[in-house]
Amino acid sequence: MNRPLRVIIDPGHGGMDSGAIGVNGIQEKDVVLNLALALKHLNDTLGHPLDLFSTRTSDTLISLSGRSKLALALEADIFLSLHCNHSSNPKARGVEVYVYDKPNSNTDAATWLAFQIQERFNKRLGFKSRGVKFANFQVLRETSRQMLSILVELGFLSNSVEIRYFLKVKNTEQMAKQILLYLLRTFYFNS
Ligand SMILES: [Zn+2]
Repeated sequence: MNRPLRVIIDPGHGGMDSGAIGVNGIQEKDVVLNLALALKHLNDTLGHPLDLFSTRTSDTLISLSGRSKLALALEADIFLSLHCNHSSNPKARGVEVYVYDKPNSNTDAATWLAFQIQERFNKRLGFKSRGVKFANFQVLRETSRQMLSILVELGFLSNSVEIRYFLKVKNTEQMAKQILLYLLRTFYFNS
């Protein structure tokens, strides 16, 4: 690779769109923004090994097409959309990662990336694995042919254990570390 890996982090929702809301008032838009900022901070601290961008760095709402357009304009290698889950079942928990459901030349590599990110969350951070899933989400549909594009549902804001996890800054830093180190190890040292 003759330039740093270019990664677009896409914290979902923002502004008037809070995303899922937990019983204690925790909001999806904040959980995912905190993780995006932690990723940026860690990448800065390490001297910018990744060419890292975020579709938003504050509490603002950006359209889904605006997110995709940024990733395409920057000719990103990886698009990583961050979300949290919600269920009417308070016991539902764990991480699931989505890949666009219509096959293209990036599908195998994106599915593998999705599986590996999920496995890290499972083995290193203790999240239950809910599997890699396929869906026609707009941001995946609009970016998956040009880059490895995945959407991570980090955990459930309807689950009190996972809410407590997300509220700790230390845990956000751990999630950022796992994602960043995984990308560095895989795309710089193994391939
Ligand atoms: Zn969401």
